[in-house]
Amino acid sequence: MTEIRPLYLNGQWQTPGKPLDVINPSTGEVFAQVATVDRAGVKQAIDDAQAAWPGWRSLTGKQRGIYLRNIADSIERRANEIAKVITLENGKPLAQSRGEVGMSVDHLQWFAEEAKRTYGRVVPNQLPGKRHLVIKQPVGVVGAIAPWNFPLVLALRKVAPALAAGCPVVLKPASATPLSSVLLAEAIHEAELPAGVFQLVVGNAKEIGEEMFSNSNCRKVTFTGSTAVGHHLIKQSAENVTKLSLELGGNAPLIVFEDADIDLAAEGAIIAKFRNTGQSCIAANRIYVHQSIFDQFVAAFVEKAKALKIGDGLSEGVDIGPLVDEASLKAAIANIEDAKKQGAEIRCGGKRWGDSQGFFLEPTVLTGASENACCLREEVFAPIAPVLSFETEEEVIAKANDTQYGLAAYLFTQNLARAWRVAEALEAGTVGVNDTVPATSQCPFGGMKQSGLGRELGIEGMDAYLETKHISFAGIE
Ligand code: ADP
Repeated sequence: MTEIRPLYLNGQWQTPGKPLDVINPSTGEVFAQVATVDRAGVKQAIDDAQAAWPGWRSLTGKQRGIYLRNIADSIERRANEIAKVITLENGKPLAQSRGEVGMSVDHLQWFAEEAKRTYGRVVPNQLPGKRHLVIKQPVGVVGAIAPWNFPLVLALRKVAPALAAGCPVVLKPASATPLSSVLLAEAIHEAELPAGVFQLVVGNAKEIGEEMFSNSNCRKVTFTGSTAVGHHLIKQSAENVTKLSLELGGNAPLIVFEDADIDLAAEGAIIAKFRNTGQSCIAANRIYVHQSIFDQFVAAFVEKAKALKIGDGLSEGVDIGPLVDEASLKAAIANIEDAKKQGAEIRCGGKRWGDSQGFFLEPTVLTGASENACCLREEVFAPIAPVLSFETEEEVIAKANDTQYGLAAYLFTQNLARAWRVAEALEAGTVGVNDTVPATSQCPFGGMKQSGLGRELGIEGMDAYLETKHISFAGIE
């Protein structure tokens, strides 16, 4: 029997409900279990968080920042162990899990500082005797719903700013990857946060969501996941006008102009497409290459894709791990079959890899897919890279923007004026110019159009957890 990992509720380790199996996607086997809560347990978690709110909000930003720094130190001390758990439950190569832990620590350190800077302002009066203040206050208990593709760092993009702002948090990790959040809870426990300020709930996603939106003590929900679930949460938020931040799907274009450094662009495209085995919301979903350099780019890109090492993320030197589960693998293979029907030619990969029960797909490069192919219209969470050619800047900007999504976009060029012009024209919350690793603690991250509402990280990352209050004085003679 595997040990049942507990939840963290009101400062206690608890195993309330039927345990949930956690599967290693490299082997298809259950390697751990985690406790769950039912809806009554979620209600209790929110109500206990509410009870902890007055104490937490009354601390100074500096005091809350010290707690955050202590959480960061605890995670940093256990970085190797935490990285291994991320790889076991998510499948990503260990080096990428270490990178995720490093970025998580950096987010905590950033928001530890931002906790001190929730500035308001004094506004000049226009009537005699009046004085106006604008102050920022914590919104209240936050329900945070996190995905499985970056289980630690995407949870912390919510937990860190919410705690810094003075809000207790009820975190619901994805059912596929709950263990990273259990380790986060251990770091929080070690940092001795007051009971109830951080609550970890695992269980039925629909039930947890329903409780968050119907419980008037839960003032804000922040979610990272698919646009389909995002639509549903927007509707649910109407009941109590629950504040909502959404970081949803993407369908990022990556454009390689004829004046680009081709090798740099091919290497950048490898990172943008195949990092995290293609399961990243900012992954390059469509690669547009100027027709004059198309063959040269495809040759370089395919050579690099073929050189990627596939395997269990715990093995040394692996670049491509498994997909997260069987359903994702099936969807990816269906996507490739659809592209073939839509005229695509497979330049490398295209099939399941290995003889284990793991959910591996070979890195796949496609050319010549028609515009209707699913892999161009939908967000593809798999290592599938469709490459297309274009003739003019105007044409490629129109194609890049022809999507309901607007999370990220990339372009490669050595022409400064073009870089500026195209970056301004692309409808995306983040644009990488000769850069395919743009996300960083100190800059805002989030989507335009149906890719989301609001921004995480940067100074904007705090706003999601703050209310703005105007205090007006009269009779100041
Ligand atoms: P993905 O599986 O691609 O990450 P999802 O949007 O399905 O995207 O899941 C993201 C997170 O949202 C997970 O924690 C999942 O359990 C949760 N989730 C899924 N459906 C709901 C729902 N109806 N209400 C609340 N949370 C949900």
